[in-house]
Amino acid sequence: MSIEAARSLQSDRTTLRRKPDRGAYDAATIHPILDEALLCHLGFAVDGQPYVIPTIHARVGDRLYLHGAVANRMLRAITDAPCCVTVTLLDGLVLARSAFHHSMNFRSVVVLGTASEVTDAAEKAAAFEAIVEKVVRGRSAACRPANDVEIRTTKVLRLPLAEASAKVRTGPPIDDEPDYALPWWAGVIPLRLVPGEPQADARTAAGTDFPHDLATDVGSARFR
Ligand SMILES: Cc1cc2nc3c(=O)[nH]c(=O)nc-3n(C[C@H](O)[C@H](O)[C@H](O)COP(=O)(O)OP(=O)(O)OC[C@H]3O[C@@H](n4cnc5c(N)ncnc54)[C@H](O)[C@@H]3O)c2cc1C
Repeated sequence: MSIEAARSLQSDRTTLRRKPDRGAYDAATIHPILDEALLCHLGFAVDGQPYVIPTIHARVGDRLYLHGAVANRMLRAITDAPCCVTVTLLDGLVLARSAFHHSMNFRSVVVLGTASEVTDAAEKAAAFEAIVEKVVRGRSAACRPANDVEIRTTKVLRLPLAEASAKVRTGPPIDDEPDYALPWWAGVIPLRLVPGEPQADARTAAGTDFPHDLATDVGSARFR
């Protein structure tokens, strides 16, 4: 593992208290979870009221980029202010013999930090590209690039990946020892997000074929 991949993002605030054995703090665990998650939930406070809003993120190295309209309250609230980004990948439903021990298999990440606005034109362009590539890999070279107005009216924020945690649950249910003899089915129902067949927009220009080299980050699936 490289020094960068082994770098710990653990702090007192990101240390898991319950089931600490499921926690990880190295970039090698945290980055792939951020990359596979197609969306995140952004937590912030306005006038003492917490809000948690779903949005899109993209990682470039040890930076997370978030974007939206200049007037977006969420982005205004987290500019130069503390925020929390959470992603969750749901891998399975865990059915135990007891109601109490039902669970889910998952990989999740929590990032804490302070975001700042990207004003450098080159970094902003790179963030735009990363966000489009995040949605579908290969797409940024297969669509019209953002124009000056679109760039000006879109705010991009950079959140350093310096303080974070991952939590991962895998495997079968963990029942109380006497319950293993009970006649209830127990096990895992795997779940995964899979892309469906592409559906062309009715106004697609005549003779324009689907670009089959595009791929999602969901299980690295390429469109057939
Ligand atoms: C799909 C799913 C379902 C869950 N269902 C439940 C449930 O029903 N009840 C329940 O109590 N818990 C549930 N959890 C676990 C929950 O997310 C917390 O991990 C749990 O509440 C433990 O809190 P704590 O007191 O140890 O940590 P806290 O003191 O709340 O957190 C301390 C730090 O640990 C880190 N952390 C905590 N949780 C996570 C996480 N999930 N991923 C990454 N970092 C984390 C953060 O950096 C946080 O700042 C679920 C998790 C997932 C992903």
